[in-house]
Amino acid sequence: MAKCDVCGNDYDKAMEITQGGRIGTFDSFECAIEAMAPKCAHCGCRVIGHGIEGGDQVFCCAHCARHAGFSDVKDHAA
Ligand SMILES: [Zn+2]
Ligand SMILES: [Zn+2]
Repeated sequence: MAKCDVCGNDYDKAMEITQGGRIGTFDSFECAIEAMAPKCAHCGCRVIGHGIEGGDQVFCCAHCARHAGFSDVKDHAA
């Protein structure tokens, strides 16, 4: 039994996820995303796919990265 760090649910199938040097305990992927997924630096949505890194920021898509000045990222390859 382990308690979720986000919602406090004491759940027998809780999981531990390591991110860098940080370990979190979660009862669901939803709570893990809430605690650990980065937020898009432009629109603020959760980045739960690969996302796009620009400098030390993370963006959800090429559109958002371009808004922040990373003009060479594209949704489509030429
Ligand atoms: Zn939870
Ligand atoms: Zn975005």
